[in-house]
Amino acid sequence: MRKNIVAGNWKMNTTLQEGVALAEEVNAAVKATKHNCDVVICVPFTHLATINDKTCRETLGLGAENCADHKSGAYTGEVSAAMVASTGATYVILGHSERRQYYGETSETLREKVALAFENNLTPIFCIGEVLEERENGTYFDVVKKQIVDALFHLSAEDFGKIILAYEPVWAIGTGKTATADQAEDMHAFIRGVIAEKYGNEVADNTSILYGGSCKPSNAKELFAKPDVDGGLIGGASLKCADFMGIVEAFN
Ligand code: PEP
Repeated sequence: MRKNIVAGNWKMNTTLQEGVALAEEVNAAVKATKHNCDVVICVPFTHLATINDKTCRETLGLGAENCADHKSGAYTGEVSAAMVASTGATYVILGHSERRQYYGETSETLREKVALAFENNLTPIFCIGEVLEERENGTYFDVVKKQIVDALFHLSAEDFGKIILAYEPVWAIGTGKTATADQAEDMHAFIRGVIAEKYGNEVADNTSILYGGSCKPSNAKELFAKPDVDGGLIGGASLKCADFMGIVEAFN
């Protein structure tokens, strides 16, 4: 059966020293707390190796927030999937809406990134989600389906089964405006149906689909109680240990 997962996305926040301190705090808190989900932190590239050495092996999964769409070579400033894996990280966020919006990521580049993540045994946390206009004009199901089909449906069932999906309505990211639990469930159930149509019920039932977008301790329990919401991808609230733990504990 699919896993419940709470994953933090630190984005471009914390210096190395601040990040290590936060990871140590989260690691200690997760260790000391009964938790019924996997807990992952996705952190800046510069922090990965140190956090892996100091803390992560105990209780936390560790991931990057992106990787390059090329294997290696003359791509100044890029960080490859192999480099990420060499730090000990085992997850990578791909297709976050901020990457799509500010860095022009397309389904084509994301297909390359997914392939390179798999080559390096990284588990993609693959983000999808509509913008406000698409929510308001009613095209959001089509938009999300197209993001999945274009970037992922060339995969074999075996490879698709290694993906974690994160539904993140862009209008809810960092805005304080959360999708209601019913809105999230409608979309998650729809996504599971799309997966079932292509790969069958077993793959669909085994795929973890996380919700992301202003998730916090006060709304996590209601969101995670929905049958197709298997946890959260957490931005802002992952930067404070107490808030992040409040979300992790929503599964208890
Ligand atoms: C995110 O960016 O993945 C996210 C969910 O951010 P926030 O929780 O801050 O809305």
